Amino acid sequence: RRDDALRRAHEPAVTRDGTTVLVGANVGSVDDAVAAVGADLAGLVRTEFGFLDRHDAPDVAEQEAAYRAIAEAMGGQRITLRTLDVGGDKPLDYLPMPAEANPFLGVRGLRLALARPQLLADQLEAIVRVAHDHPVDVMFPMVTTVDELTAARRALDDAVETVGRGRPELRVGIMVEVPAAALKAASFAPSVDFLSIGTNDLTQYALAAERGNEDLAALADPLDPGVLALIAATVEGAGDDVLVAVCGEVAADEQAVALLLGLGVRELSVAPAAVGVVKQAVREVDMDEARELATTALTCPDAPAVRRLVEQRSSRHP
Ligand code: PEP
Ligand code: MG
Repeated sequence: RRDDALRRAHEPAVTRDGTTVLVGANVGSVDDAVAAVGADLAGLVRTEFGFLDRHDAPDVAEQEAAYRAIAEAMGGQRITLRTLDVGGDKPLDYLPMPAEANPFLGVRGLRLALARPQLLADQLEAIVRVAHDHPVDVMFPMVTTVDELTAARRALDDAVETVGRGRPELRVGIMVEVPAAALKAASFAPSVDFLSIGTNDLTQYALAAERGNEDLAALADPLDPGVLALIAATVEGAGDDVLVAVCGEVAADEQAVALLLGLGVRELSVAPAAVGVVKQAVREVDMDEARELATTALTCPDAPAVRRLVEQRSSRHP
């Protein structure tokens, strides 16, 4: 099965009944992009890697070169550049922040970018410059309110003006990581081209279980029906015109693929090494069965029950 997955990595991922699902790679570097064999896109570029382990922020030219290199390594595929997602748990030396009692609930993601307008302006300028030559999406992390998105979009318009070459084709999306944002997806939908669910953070916030805390690993399962209900709410709110993706780790969980597609997710972005295997998992999905599976999963009491349900299904279809 793994050999098959590798052999067919470059083919599109189409379910048994003909639904095409884009399978992208999550990348943080050119090496990751090179490793993303067969990826339909880079569904999440974690730009913060260019900001870590330094004494100052990279300037516009440095950022532009870094994003261009990733775009080139992706061989013309679309890249989704997520704006800086630091703060709280990921502090930067050159961005002194007041200590926070609960960093995961603090000034992080887009909150931090909006509090440091020059940082965001520089990054968006670099992104716009690259977007004139490569297919690029821009994605804002940790969005909670429509006002934040409006402010971020305004900063993007300003960057287009600064570059002064007209507006490149540039799709705009947000990460859905805050439970309230999932429930308010319909309010965001008119202002975005896509929504990408960050199940790593969404799970931690929905279940009040810190990601990375080993004592809570079993509890912090993205297949908890409460998290699945938030994914379903996001799809519902997105409507027909806004694509919903998942770029959290659960997208690479072979047990989860049918469930996510059944909930209405149409794009998955995973670690580079998982692209082929996830495409293969998509090819085994029948959408009617997947929808039924999702409907039943939403009625399960907890994640272990959801996992038993999925296992029963896959033993019926070896
Ligand atoms: C997520 O939260 O699911 C996500 C993809 O973003 P990160 O893991 O970088 O926080
Ligand atoms: Mg996140």
